[in-house]
Amino acid sequence: MLNSPLHILQHTFGYDSFRQPQEKIIDCVVAGGDALVLMPTGGGKSLCYQIPALARGGVGVVISPLIALMEDQVSALRELGVNAGYLNSTLDWDSTWHTENAIRNGELSLVYIAPERLIQERTLALLQESPISLFAIDEAHCVAQWGHDFRADYLRLSLLHETFPTIPRIALTATADERTRAEIIERLSLTRAQQFISGFDRPNIQYRIQQKNKPRDQLLNFLRSEQQGNTGIIYCLSRKKVEDTAEWLTQQGFNALPYHARMSANARQTNQHRFLREDNIIIVATIAFGMGIDKPDVRFVVHLDLPKSVEAYYQETGRGGRDGEPSTALLLYGLEDVVKLSQMAENSEGDEAFKRQEQQRLYAMLGICEIASCRRQVLLRYFGDEMPEPCGNCDNCLEAPDTWNASEAVQMALSTVYRSGQRFGAGHLIDILRGADNEKIRQFGHQALSTYGIGNKLSANEWRTIFRQLIARGLLTVDHEGYGCLRLTESCRPILRGAETIYLRKDKVSKKSPLLRKKVLDIAEEDMGLWNALRQCRKQLADENGVPPYVIFHDSTLREMLEKRPLQDYELLNISGVGDRKLEQFGEAFIDVIREFEYT
Ligand code: ADP
Ligand code: ZN
Repeated sequence: MLNSPLHILQHTFGYDSFRQPQEKIIDCVVAGGDALVLMPTGGGKSLCYQIPALARGGVGVVISPLIALMEDQVSALRELGVNAGYLNSTLDWDSTWHTENAIRNGELSLVYIAPERLIQERTLALLQESPISLFAIDEAHCVAQWGHDFRADYLRLSLLHETFPTIPRIALTATADERTRAEIIERLSLTRAQQFISGFDRPNIQYRIQQKNKPRDQLLNFLRSEQQGNTGIIYCLSRKKVEDTAEWLTQQGFNALPYHARMSANARQTNQHRFLREDNIIIVATIAFGMGIDKPDVRFVVHLDLPKSVEAYYQETGRGGRDGEPSTALLLYGLEDVVKLSQMAENSEGDEAFKRQEQQRLYAMLGICEIASCRRQVLLRYFGDEMPEPCGNCDNCLEAPDTWNASEAVQMALSTVYRSGQRFGAGHLIDILRGADNEKIRQFGHQALSTYGIGNKLSANEWRTIFRQLIARGLLTVDHEGYGCLRLTESCRPILRGAETIYLRKDKVSKKSPLLRKKVLDIAEEDMGLWNALRQCRKQLADENGVPPYVIFHDSTLREMLEKRPLQDYELLNISGVGDRKLEQFGEAFIDVIREFEYT
């Protein structure tokens, strides 16, 4: 059957088989039912509406807030031989007119429309006289008023149900929590929709969290030894740090661009565009860089500062590896981060309950940094997903961290906090413990404390590690009024009494471990020549066609070419990501490249 979903998957998209929930979702929508789809980033949501639109015939209307991406999404479909278009404010009159006509005549299979455009009278009138196959509401969490991405125009989308009661609707999001889900269902009148909720695991992302220790060296080492020529995102907390880091990386010979909210709209757009188009590019950004960045071949996401919450961390790291190929999420953090974020939370506007919530989010994030067991298990549990076995693809799984009996040191630290009056930050407390002789020590007469100098066997760094873990475990809290003063909590009692043994993890000195690189996209030395030639060929075709390289073929497709070395059309067609149209357009160019390597 030419318009069966499987046929479309194989011939138009060039994939062998459906991923787990896709087939059921597609069947539901093809049969005219409504669906609510919750799938992690990179799970494969787009096919869930693209294939039904093609199978049902008529025009599939995709509502998306991500105007900047529409052009790329549409050109990707066109490369597959699918008739697609978009309507948004960036389009000139002439193109708008053409697109509208094509919709009316049912010539387009898919049209992307911004929500503010969709709700205009003119657009609704157009759709009413057009053969519509379905409505897909992408980024459906934008309808949730309490979320980060709320868009007022999304609220009006309930009119779809009223105006087009017989046309199937499919709402999609990667945002997890139950409250958001309930809001989507209510506000979009999806009470009768079938719900498809996938787990949130992203198994191809390798999570690593390290203590900051000359962070620039750590970053450079990571980039040079593991990520040469790869695309990635580096997140920093402040605008200044974004600029400094991007500049410094450029000096080091990397193709790095800054991105933050204070740059002009123009500069931001240019950098985002370059990031999407280029093959070997690093963007250094604040969290302003985010939603809808669905460049599939992001090979690493680095955090140079501690994210504010587990949600933010998971979302940001989730921008890596959407193509299913290995991606690394590296987080570097230190005691200063904890203190700074904690103070930011305290000084934020909002009532006490809000502040307490912000603190708790921060501590949850910190907990993930400080655990000695599988990080993914804890991450997923946070989102309500249970993972029975350790994942095998996080730093703790790959290389179990050392722990040590820290009871004595912890007692020293806690009693120093107590004896100095719970009025000092970690820096001064460490000076007391190590018996430093400086003005502040003398000013407060701290040489006289019984804990003065008793901790001089440990270095200042080791003490910082201890204080960080004590905060993470809720034994100390950061005071908001002062300058990061540490205070004891109730849970310190048994430890101070010596009634409890406490194990802490040792910080890893960043010795490079062969294990940690296990699942990183690595190309054997002898294959590098062909790999680069394939990428070169892709880049050239991309430039000729005015599209980003991944629109030609994904990394995973090139990698399979590298393995299988196809020299015939039918061999190339067997590779995932190669469909009829792409074979016809690009097959010869790639086969030529491979042939050259095979026979020389
Ligand atoms: P999402 O929108 O959920 O983040 P996408 O729809 O962008 O994810 O899909 C992520 C990647 O997975 C894309 O590169 C897509 O082509 C690929 N993909 C989706 N479904 C399949 C499949 N059944 N087989 C192989 N690759 C797939
Ligand atoms: Zn793990």
